Amino acid sequence: AGSGKFFVGGNWKCNGTKDSIKQLVSDLNSATLEPDVDVVVGPPFVYIDQVKNSLTDRIEIAAQNSWTGKGGAFTGEISAEQLKDIGCKWVILGHSERRHVLKEDDQFIGKKAAYALGQGLGVIACIGELLEEREAGKTFDVCFQQLKAYADAVPSWDNIVIAYEPVWAIGTGKVASPEQAQEVHVAVRDWLAKNVSAEVASKTRIIYGGSVNAGNSAELAKKEDIDGFLVGGASLKGSDFATIINSVT
Ligand code: PEP
Repeated sequence: AGSGKFFVGGNWKCNGTKDSIKQLVSDLNSATLEPDVDVVVGPPFVYIDQVKNSLTDRIEIAAQNSWTGKGGAFTGEISAEQLKDIGCKWVILGHSERRHVLKEDDQFIGKKAAYALGQGLGVIACIGELLEEREAGKTFDVCFQQLKAYADAVPSWDNIVIAYEPVWAIGTGKVASPEQAQEVHVAVRDWLAKNVSAEVASKTRIIYGGSVNAGNSAELAKKEDIDGFLVGGASLKGSDFATIINSVT
């Protein structure tokens, strides 16, 4: 972990029912969490209100997507204004499942990020390479291209947390080694220093995501440029998520 405040996000994806979420919230409410960690959970849209009304204020809420602009005639979409209205502080954008399953491209994601920031939401901006891109030696190129799309679109980096999530590690149980993650986090920081500013490079938190669990988070958290985690599967179990939050050293 670096000098910034550790940040742990739980991405619940398209999981849960009213009952299972009630249980998860209750487990999170009774967990003991390190005070010096920002903690955020991302429920499916339809359960945000339930979570907002039952979860401790200690934990902030993220949406898993938002529209590129003001609401209106956009069937099925949710606007940043609506997320603010319902009490969200954050939105996860550029997640690999949206890039690769829903085919969202860099410019579209950049537009969403800019709009969400403009409405006062914090953005968890995801980047990450596919396995074939890593094997072809293109990890940095892919991450830098995705970063550039954010940089070209956003007015400021004040409310952005970058999530480096190698696609081959997401939901696969194949976590990146601490060295593999650290190497990319350093490269991302260098890219920010060269292409945005030294200040943004040093203060922007870069979190790792991809098969983080209660058993591997402490080793990852020791790395200097790993400023937290974005957690999928393991965030659905309150005790595991708490262990990950508390793994900051
Ligand atoms: C994610 O979806 O952001 C993620 C990291 O998933 P998992 O922890 O399940 O690999």
